[in-house]
Amino acid sequence: MQKRVQGFKIPIGLDKESNNPVNVKDALNGLKCNCICPICKEDIVAYNNEGIKVRAHFKHRKEAECSINGESYIHWLAKEAFKDMEKNGDEFTLPPFEISTFDTEIRKSFKDRLGEELKKVVVEKPLPLNKFFPPNKLKLVHQSSIKVCKVNTEVFKKTDIGDGDVRVDITIEHEGKELFIEPFLTSEIDYEKYRKLLDLDTTTIAINLNSFIIDNDDWDFTLDDMKYFLQSNVAAKEYVVLKKERYDNLFQKSLDNYFNEQFLLNLDEASKLRMNVLDVDKELNILRKEVTEIHNRIFALENAGVKLKFKEVCQKINYFNDSFMPY
Ligand SMILES: [Zn+2]
Repeated sequence: MQKRVQGFKIPIGLDKESNNPVNVKDALNGLKCNCICPICKEDIVAYNNEGIKVRAHFKHRKEAECSINGESYIHWLAKEAFKDMEKNGDEFTLPPFEISTFDTEIRKSFKDRLGEELKKVVVEKPLPLNKFFPPNKLKLVHQSSIKVCKVNTEVFKKTDIGDGDVRVDITIEHEGKELFIEPFLTSEIDYEKYRKLLDLDTTTIAINLNSFIIDNDDWDFTLDDMKYFLQSNVAAKEYVVLKKERYDNLFQKSLDNYFNEQFLLNLDEASKLRMNVLDVDKELNILRKEVTEIHNRIFALENAGVKLKFKEVCQKINYFNDSFMPY
């Protein structure tokens, strides 16, 4: 679906000879700009006189039958921007990738593994593990940057899914592996194309250009502006496909990392509990000693009491004996 984007004017044309993009502000005025329309390839004229009332832009020399619109134009420009990145050896930021669901089986095996490890290493009795649940979200890929190499645009790839071949907007290469880039404004990757990309098993990143258009709704921008957006706006990028082998590998690695992290946390928790037990034990020993001392004192007092009582009784007996002796 092609949608008209409001206020569309051409800010960047194509040099007739070199085929390189030209910002209207850098072009010679009028027909001297020597530029063509990137869509219909007809001559365009630069309106960039100083003091013109409207912002500088290119216009078709003749109002030809050109299908150019905001969407087709921005799509073209994104591809040009990638070619320019390659030329300059620029960097491209890959977005982070998180998965948010763990099935019950993974949760269970994770918990079992944690329990077994702890039994072996830390405590005779396993710690209560219910507070160490496996994560709900796991980051498989951290944000990183790659150098843009070997850019190709409009590449047809062979697949037997659906009606066959698929057209990929941009392909770049990194460490000998291909990466697909799909910029879009309104035409997001549909299910058919998604199935084809999945079949090709190549990591594919979609770039949503809407925020670029919203921020530049006066159509007053340069190729560098577009390049900068494509290179560094991580929020606009999303993984559509992550190569299966890479996914499985990253998944296992991330799970292991998380497990080790949790395991260490548990060890830490266990050693804290141990310290607590030792502290309590120390206090108990002190109290025990005090109790023994008190017992001893009680015993001593009782002993003394018994002796006194005995003496008193003896005295009474003596008195009785003294008074009532028959002599
Ligand atoms: Zn045109």
